[in-house]
Amino acid sequence: MNEKELKYYKNKLLKEKEKLLKVVRRVQEDSLKSDDSSGDDIVDKSLGTSEREHSYLLASNETDILYWIEEALKKIDNGDYGICERCNTNISHRRLEIKPYAIYCIDCIEDLEKNIGS
Ligand SMILES: [Zn+2]
Repeated sequence: MNEKELKYYKNKLLKEKEKLLKVVRRVQEDSLKSDDSSGDDIVDKSLGTSEREHSYLLASNETDILYWIEEALKKIDNGDYGICERCNTNISHRRLEIKPYAIYCIDCIEDLEKNIGS
């Protein structure tokens, strides 16, 4: 991936992050009013490989997605953004366009989803 493309996806990720943070903050403020057990760091999770796969596949709420956006931003800095974590092939631009925080290619996702269902 060239520098221009990386910049493009980084921008996309940052915008998405901002949007999600607003939602998460609103939810946290609401929950603060009703209960005092706050202080969870939303992006500090460390996971094993299969936990990571599960967590990625099941990521549905804003906090989960924020975590994967952080991961993608780290990848951009490390220079391994857009490469599938499982098979090391390039993730297609079409896929990154829809899901800029994708860490697996389509083939691996299909594979993982099969495993998760069984
Ligand atoms: Zn793959």
